[in-house]
Amino acid sequence: MRTRSAKPESGHLQSREPTPMPNGTEAIATRSQSLLKARTYDFSGMLSPKKGFDVSRKEILNSLRDCAKMIGSRRITIKQYDAWPHRVLSSHQIAVRFSGWDVALKEAGLEVRATSTGNAVEMVEIFLDCWEDYNDVPTVKNLSNHLKKINSKFSISMYTRYFGGVRRLAIQIVKYNKGEISENQLLDKYFRKGANRGSISAKLRYMVFVRDQFTCVSCGRSVNRDGVRLEIDHKVPVSTGGTSEFSNLQTLCIDCNRGKGDAAP
Ligand SMILES: [Zn+2]
Repeated sequence: MRTRSAKPESGHLQSREPTPMPNGTEAIATRSQSLLKARTYDFSGMLSPKKGFDVSRKEILNSLRDCAKMIGSRRITIKQYDAWPHRVLSSHQIAVRFSGWDVALKEAGLEVRATSTGNAVEMVEIFLDCWEDYNDVPTVKNLSNHLKKINSKFSISMYTRYFGGVRRLAIQIVKYNKGEISENQLLDKYFRKGANRGSISAKLRYMVFVRDQFTCVSCGRSVNRDGVRLEIDHKVPVSTGGTSEFSNLQTLCIDCNRGKGDAAP
């Protein structure tokens, strides 16, 4: 079958009388020819974006050093490199070639930040790229698509674990731009201080219940009088940067808590 379809005798096909629905083996042969054509076409289309592979590793490394020299720093960011007119490839292509941007920097003899902070810088940069791409604050969905698109080693759950959520990171970046927080505060791992939902200890929960007299602070029903089930709620939701400190916790009955969701009080 393959030998036959290698080069279809176009004259033969054209001269044939119009048969809208060819039968049997003829039909299969015709179909496989058109499939083959389509595949050849797609294949060549997919090859072209990878042409960066004719740039050697040495050229890439030299280019990184040149860029660093131009900036006057031992460390260059993804953004800086991509904005550089003389770059040989995009930072993404380099990251793919070297299995990581930091790996390429290291090989070029440039400075690489400590892993965790380095990752945070990269994650923030990717987040900002995504912000620019969509011309809006990235949603979880947008960021997720963006991460897939650039074949990133980071995942949404890594953002959540490190920055306490996509929305919180956006808020932190706004604060950073306004000068309200430092770069270190922006890049710091959010949950380091044990400020996540899971860190409310039994003791802390109990203290909040006692302070609120085992009564829902919203509707005033209590365990003793009304038999409601009580829960601990974050006044400022965790998703918008609220912590699990005593002052940010309150007692709510299950109805009030579920009705509230993540809306601000
Ligand atoms: Zn209530």
